[in-house]
Amino acid sequence: MIKYHLKCECGVEFESWFSSSKEYDRLEKKKMLSCQCGKSNNISKQLMAPQIASKKVDTKKNKQEEFYKTVNKKLRDLRDYVEKNAEYVGDNFVSEARSIHYDKKNVRSIYGKATPEQTEELLDEGIEVNTVPWIDKANN
Ligand SMILES: [Zn+2]
Repeated sequence: MIKYHLKCECGVEFESWFSSSKEYDRLEKKKMLSCQCGKSNNISKQLMAPQIASKKVDTKKNKQEEFYKTVNKKLRDLRDYVEKNAEYVGDNFVSEARSIHYDKKNVRSIYGKATPEQTEELLDEGIEVNTVPWIDKANN
């Protein structure tokens, strides 16, 4: 079986299956190919080249999608890991980070919110802080 993309002179494009390319040639010669418009038997086979070109584009797009999905998954894994292994302190992050660093009390891993300026300050004080991309869990 072979599938051809066909075009009628009325402008309608459609796809049709044939047992072989010879079968198509035979039907075309006898003007036995028909279109839904019912007015014309003047139907031609479309070149396959554009389809090949679009396939190449598709492959590239798939790779980009795959890359995007992989990055998203790793970011979700990272978020899961942080959530499981650190305590969420929200807006208290800066003061909690300082209290752990200076008072050595209740030493543990924490995560929460800080502005880039606050993060910079903590780093200047020698406190180990990492900024991680926080992905929305609903985001696929
Ligand atoms: Zn037609």
